[in-house]
Amino acid sequence: MTERFAQVALPLPLFEPYTYRVPESLGDRIVPGARVVVPVRARELVGIVVASEDAVIASAAKQSGEAKRPLVAVKDILAAPDSETALTPALLRTAEWMAGYYGAPIGLALKAMLPAPMWGGSRVLIRVTGAGPGRLGGLAEQLLEWLDGRGGEAPLDTAARHFRKPLWEVADRLARVGAAELVVEPAEAEPSGLVERRLELAGESLTLVEREARFTRRVKQRRLYETLEQLGGSAAVKHLKDTLGMSDSVIKALASSGLARVVRVERLRDPFEGEPGTAPPAKLTPEQAAVLEKLDGLAPGNGALLFGVTGSGKTLVYLRAVQHAVEAGRGAIVLVPEIGLTPQMVSRVRGMFGNDVAVLHSGLSDGERADAWRLLRRGERRVAVGARSAVFAPVNDLGLIVVDEEHETSYKNGEAPRYHAREVARVRARLESARYVLGSATPSLETFSLVLPSPTLPSPVLPPSRLPVLRLPSRIDHRPMPPVEIVDLRSAPRVATGHSVPWSEALDGALNTVMSRGEQAILLLNRRGYAAFVQCPECGLVPECPDCSIALTLHRVPPGLRCHYCGKHFPVPATCANCGHAVQRAHGIGTQQLEELVAARFPKARLARMDLDTTSTRFSHHRILERIEKGAVDILLGTQMIAKGMDFPNVTLVGVVDADTALHLPDFRAGERTYQLLAQVAGRAGRGPKGGKVLVQTRSPDHPALKFAARHDTEGFLAHEALERKSPPYPPETSLLNVVISAEQEQKAMEEAVGVADWLEKLIAAQGLPLVLLGPAPCPLTRIKARWRWHVLVKGPVEEIGRVVRYAAPRLEGRGKARVVLDRDPVSLL
Ligand code: ADP
Ligand code: ZN
Repeated sequence: MTERFAQVALPLPLFEPYTYRVPESLGDRIVPGARVVVPVRARELVGIVVASEDAVIASAAKQSGEAKRPLVAVKDILAAPDSETALTPALLRTAEWMAGYYGAPIGLALKAMLPAPMWGGSRVLIRVTGAGPGRLGGLAEQLLEWLDGRGGEAPLDTAARHFRKPLWEVADRLARVGAAELVVEPAEAEPSGLVERRLELAGESLTLVEREARFTRRVKQRRLYETLEQLGGSAAVKHLKDTLGMSDSVIKALASSGLARVVRVERLRDPFEGEPGTAPPAKLTPEQAAVLEKLDGLAPGNGALLFGVTGSGKTLVYLRAVQHAVEAGRGAIVLVPEIGLTPQMVSRVRGMFGNDVAVLHSGLSDGERADAWRLLRRGERRVAVGARSAVFAPVNDLGLIVVDEEHETSYKNGEAPRYHAREVARVRARLESARYVLGSATPSLETFSLVLPSPTLPSPVLPPSRLPVLRLPSRIDHRPMPPVEIVDLRSAPRVATGHSVPWSEALDGALNTVMSRGEQAILLLNRRGYAAFVQCPECGLVPECPDCSIALTLHRVPPGLRCHYCGKHFPVPATCANCGHAVQRAHGIGTQQLEELVAARFPKARLARMDLDTTSTRFSHHRILERIEKGAVDILLGTQMIAKGMDFPNVTLVGVVDADTALHLPDFRAGERTYQLLAQVAGRAGRGPKGGKVLVQTRSPDHPALKFAARHDTEGFLAHEALERKSPPYPPETSLLNVVISAEQEQKAMEEAVGVADWLEKLIAAQGLPLVLLGPAPCPLTRIKARWRWHVLVKGPVEEIGRVVRYAAPRLEGRGKARVVLDRDPVSLL
């Protein structure tokens, strides 16, 4: 009799899956994609079968003539708890593609796909069903009796300890006759019935004058009060204390003054649940209808770029396309850049599909995530909405994947597997014969290169193929795009404000007009904190993070210096650490300082600030948006967060306080990023019948990103940028691999980087590959989280880059003491 073997992946960074023997009793269930319980050292872990016997032999034989490895001391698979595989063949193949393309261990590729509680260190429970044959006899009977005595269920390992013998076989037998079921549960029970203390504002918002009166000499209470305002009106007491450094006594004082109160709430409610959602517009415009028809007509497995200006009504096209998939009995996935930042989109999807939608957002607990996953897998929910990882949602019979704002960098995963959700979407759609649509007002050059007339530009993933482009060139109701006025900060008349924020008369006047008309304005400043850095005027010292070698950012609420890479806090130095000079000077500007200035210039305006510091608690972002929607905010100011997906018709002015914050970063996409940010934030203005305009303050008015943005000429910019990327070649003209080497000692990082570069050089030479190697060189961010960073760039055709990745990943990543990371198609070279 032949023995059967299976390869099982565990959520670990191992390039080779484990091999196990398949006991005869389990034979029928051990198929690729199935969950199995396997022994690993002294433990039992839940893994996923990635290949069964035949495939094992085939892949072993493929390995360049290597003899089939002897299977020494192979252990048995213990159990296969599910009657249905956890992963469909298409998802498993997507994982395999991802592992191969990005050079990631298969276990990590699968880890990105499956909710954590479903495998790994999970526990297997055995639960009595009360059904099945009457008499079983022997150990099976004893086990059932023992379980009955314990309320009907127990972890199988607890039972095994009681009976002093392994019970897998018996358990499997009981499950097969229907007398018991095996359930995989998270090892750690999730926190249940969590009650949270929150501090919330009470009464009407105080005017600036009232504030001055009430808070004289109560600076800390004022800070707390204003922090609550920025957080949308309330915050968890724990968050205020632990993260923001507020003291108990200040919280108590504010509460007893009547300006705020402490409430106890059952776990923070999911803001999406139970909400009816926004009803979609009833009728498509002729333009939308034409685009939708083309989408519906795409051949299965194919996709298109939906290139529609901001406010052109892309969302309704997505929704109708999803509806068509659902009506055809299939499912759909809608990907958004960051679920917390796009509540309007979620609300629209829910408005159309109600409880057929599973919203996969970061606020879900592990258990809730696993529940959503099961509902989708069983077909009880047919539409999944979520960020990056929702591309793996186990939607049954997938018919459509929507990638909204396909240009967003948050679609790229920052850890292994370093996948790009847009590319995964295209591969998965191909494998499942689903359609896909990539939507944007500012498509990435990578995507747009696929629609350009030159078919020579390679796709980063699939063989050269043209991507049809569907255009929505004008806004709904033919509303004009808002005029963009560039304010040259080098010469424009300024208002003296006492702050270092550049404040032109043009911007000041425009804000005044908006206020007098009772309209709303948005101000973008893409740097959080109060000031970019502090510097000693005497010796020039700039305090840096000791772990990250970047300048610390000055914050006012709570006061301190903070590292924007690792998050560490430091007190503001009273004197210079180097020369002892007493006065430190702040340079550069951040949103906190902007807020201070705007509050002083427009004392009657109701302000909201939106950046990482004001949106760190669950759903705080959602609450700020609600206040804007209700008209309780006159001026919204913030970082790039405010540029995304917001649709507020009463916003008639968008002001970009400093367009140059990212323009000169040492990254070949600096111009593209700046263009996208400007076009997206400009797109928030004039979405309603009142119209609107955009003011952009800059010191580089001649930069192409600004010139094209001022004309809303996205295609012009893309054509310009495509030329720029030709020489020296950068994506999409060439494919790119960034190898980042990091270590705690500077010397070590450098030496390892030189070693890696040599190794790659030899590989390229030996194989005669048409690849170019750049570096080694220190990364622009030379040190992050106490690690020195160097990198080597490899450029060349997509096929050869792929060969290098597949060969190098398992060999380089475990090398020496340094950490080596292969980042294929990187979205940032910093
Ligand atoms: P985009 O995502 O392209 O920037 P949206 O989808 O947010 O644009 O649409 C802009 C605005 O136009 C929204 O307020 C939306 O409700 C409205 N809208 C979209 N389609 C229609 C339509 N067919 N009829 C009326 N209003 C529409
Ligand atoms: Zn740091």
